[in-house]
Amino acid sequence: MRSVTVVGASLAGWSAVRRLRAEGYDGSLTVVGAERHEPYDRPPLSKEFLRGGMDADALALATAEEYQDLDARWLLGRCALRLDPHDRTLHLDDGREIRTDAVVIATGAVPRRIPGGDRLRGIHTLRTLDDAEALRADLLTGRPAVVVIGAGFIGAEVASTARALGLDVTVVEAAEHPLERALGREMGSVCSALHGDHGVRLLCGVGVSGFTGEDRVGGVRLSDGRLLPADVVVMGVGVSPATGWLAGSGVEVDDGVVCDSGCATSVPNVVAVGDVASCPDPFTGRRSRIEHWTHATEQPKTAVRTLLSGSSLAPAAVPPYFWSDQYQVRIQLAGHVGPDDEPRIVEGSVDDRSFVAVYHRDGHEVAVLGVNQPKLFNRLRRTLLPIPEAARS
Ligand code: FAD
Repeated sequence: MRSVTVVGASLAGWSAVRRLRAEGYDGSLTVVGAERHEPYDRPPLSKEFLRGGMDADALALATAEEYQDLDARWLLGRCALRLDPHDRTLHLDDGREIRTDAVVIATGAVPRRIPGGDRLRGIHTLRTLDDAEALRADLLTGRPAVVVIGAGFIGAEVASTARALGLDVTVVEAAEHPLERALGREMGSVCSALHGDHGVRLLCGVGVSGFTGEDRVGGVRLSDGRLLPADVVVMGVGVSPATGWLAGSGVEVDDGVVCDSGCATSVPNVVAVGDVASCPDPFTGRRSRIEHWTHATEQPKTAVRTLLSGSSLAPAAVPPYFWSDQYQVRIQLAGHVGPDDEPRIVEGSVDDRSFVAVYHRDGHEVAVLGVNQPKLFNRLRRTLLPIPEAARS
């Protein structure tokens, strides 16, 4: 293999580039990235950076020396429009064609939008540095009434940051509790309480039917007819995998790029990593796209091994892991929570907003949740065993 092209210049793409060189690949390496920025870290975009406490330079994933050592060609601000599977040629939006022996797909995901949300200024999504700069500018000019749609991790972090800036924040969530799907009903209600503790109004079990305003947003209309005044709106209603450019490529797509457990796709010498990749997970036994930072840094090890060895090798069964920082509380989850899994507090107390809970399914420990208890959480996370076949949901 003499040439590899990575499409997507963010965390998973960057991690793949580093891994290729670390594994001794010395052929030519090209990275195509739709954003004009060098790879940067996304988690601070909803936290320190959004608060105004961090410069964009501090988000950089690498130093100038690291770029030099990696000896890759970076085509930034360039989008891959199409992959021709016959001669493995990538067609870019500037007319360039790149013929390559192998492709790493690392195109991540794009935020979903609510219809009508494109029409008015002041309505935001948050995925990129450019998104965060636009939202930060709106928040820091002191626009008082902020409505966040969706109380998932991004929505909750934005609400927490906006509140820390002294703004009046309302969160609208369609489910009965925030984060119900990720943490279950009981722990979702703990997250409801966190919003309340900090003076954020949380409206659950209601959807959004539209927006009011002429040029700039003035309000959010709810499905029950209520109208919430809004100077700034943030839509945090999930993401869709960025796979449109793969149409006609022969790469199978079904809510993400369909891969085997070694990250191999349906086209030889094409692998996928990060938020865009849908793989069977050896810990949970489920096929899923895992949208977590740690996964995007670790999974490229598997993909690179598959590419360089020519045979698809499954990774070790490590529990999926993420963290979220909201309202000065660090929430950490490892493993997988199903709708009927029962959390038991093993340390601390919910009232103190500091505890560790272990989730059980059919007598097996399937997940650990830590709230402001990183030490014990990290210890217990390492004791989780792959979910046995009979307990897989
Ligand atoms: P992405 O970061 O989405 O990158 C994909 C890149 O590919 C993008 O730059 C995109 O422009 C580019 N691209 C797309 N299509 C094309 C194309 N056709 N041609 C060329 N380039 C293309 N995870 C946690 O575990 N904890 C956290 O606290 C946390 N906080 C987060 C906060 C925010 C605001 C966000 C957005 C995410 C957060 N995450 C967090 C998730 C984590 O950042 C993601 O899992 C990670 O960024 C995924 O990396 P990726 O490279 O797979 O995808």
